[in-house]
Amino acid sequence: MLTDNITRRSDGTLCFAGQSVPELAGRYGTPLYLMDEDRIRANCRMYREAFRAHFGDGALPLYASKAACFKQMYRIVAEEGLGVDCVSVGEIHTALQAGFPAEKIYYHGDGKTDADIAYALAQGVGCFVVDNGNELITLEEEAAARGIRQKILLRITPGIDPHTYQAVNTGAVDVKFGVPVETGQAMEFVRAALSMEHVEVAGLHCHVGSMVFGEDVYQRTIDIMLAFMREVKDELGLELDELNLGGGYGVRYEESDPAIDIPARLGEVAANLKKRTAEYGLRLPRFLMEPGRSIVADAGMTVYTVCSVKRIPGYKSYAIVDGGMADNPRYCLYGSRYTVLHAQRSGGLRAIFDLAGRACESGDIIQPAISLPNNTARGDLVAVCTTGAYNYAMASHYNRLPKPPVVMLHGGESYVAVRRETIEDVCAMDV
Ligand SMILES: *Cc1c(COP(=O)(O)O)cnc(C)c1O
Repeated sequence: MLTDNITRRSDGTLCFAGQSVPELAGRYGTPLYLMDEDRIRANCRMYREAFRAHFGDGALPLYASKAACFKQMYRIVAEEGLGVDCVSVGEIHTALQAGFPAEKIYYHGDGKTDADIAYALAQGVGCFVVDNGNELITLEEEAAARGIRQKILLRITPGIDPHTYQAVNTGAVDVKFGVPVETGQAMEFVRAALSMEHVEVAGLHCHVGSMVFGEDVYQRTIDIMLAFMREVKDELGLELDELNLGGGYGVRYEESDPAIDIPARLGEVAANLKKRTAEYGLRLPRFLMEPGRSIVADAGMTVYTVCSVKRIPGYKSYAIVDGGMADNPRYCLYGSRYTVLHAQRSGGLRAIFDLAGRACESGDIIQPAISLPNNTARGDLVAVCTTGAYNYAMASHYNRLPKPPVVMLHGGESYVAVRRETIEDVCAMDV
């Protein structure tokens, strides 16, 4: 199986985190998001332990909460001792409602409004990751008005495209996030921040992308960021204390995807960080990263009921389910691949289907050309694997479809972390 929390009993019953998927579907209904809490915790611990081993006690992984954001996630992450990265007032509010400590929140975003900035300051958010000069000026004013000095990181664009990472000076210099090194703007950004009295520049942030598999992407990022930190020290006399390398480690969606040994990769990153700091005569900065997907993706599975099977001779067949782009828009958005499993049987003659949703869009495909038992029929259950990241978080109400619940699996038990929406919920804002 794709991950070791997915198993099948000899009678063909699919199990997730050791529990029968058909039983869970019977109890909670479909469509249904399942989350393996033990896997989330194990992934958090893997990061914590690797950080401690390779970067020392001060180093901290921050869970990028946009990947899966609801109160129970923040409670789990808090218990596991991670910080979080939030990208909106809504995420900060959710974290605080869950009792997450404000000082361990890093507040991101390239389009923070005046109201957003005021809210985050009022809540005592630990650190702003300042994306650009406009935000810096407003933050300085708002912090001054409150008579405080706000800790910040400055978001820098190292100019690495993680998918063609040899090409350092192309594409990724002109992403909408951060301030590029190459154009000289990053240095001006740091200089501007240093001239301000009500922000305290703790260090730098960068994030090169998502689904990163390439071995040397983070190494090249370290090279560029440390070279820039040396320039900052030479030009501005400032030695930066924190370096946040962002998120992005890839996960396996299909059997053919490589498995990344994240602790081993982090060991290599640490070695390069130590090498560069020694070479440049810099202190070892406090090291942060912001994994999202690699903490929650393989902890998730979505279960659907087949509503219709449609065969178009000479063309293709569809298995149409009671969910779709409203609960998982990722194939529609960027052609994401998924492994799809029948939840009740695996043997026998098989056939190729497009797994389609029930939204009124011909593009509402969860995954094309998947293999299911040929006799797959209305009422059968199918499971889409590795849906823990960017599925519930990206769900919409398109076609006024209520959002599915999130059910957590923990130590052989299950509980509702987010209840199923009703059609009344969907109408609740209408006047
Ligand atoms: C999305 C994002 C992350 C998390 O990325 P993953 O691929 O989910 O690990 C971390 N940091 C920033 C700034 C992001 O935008």
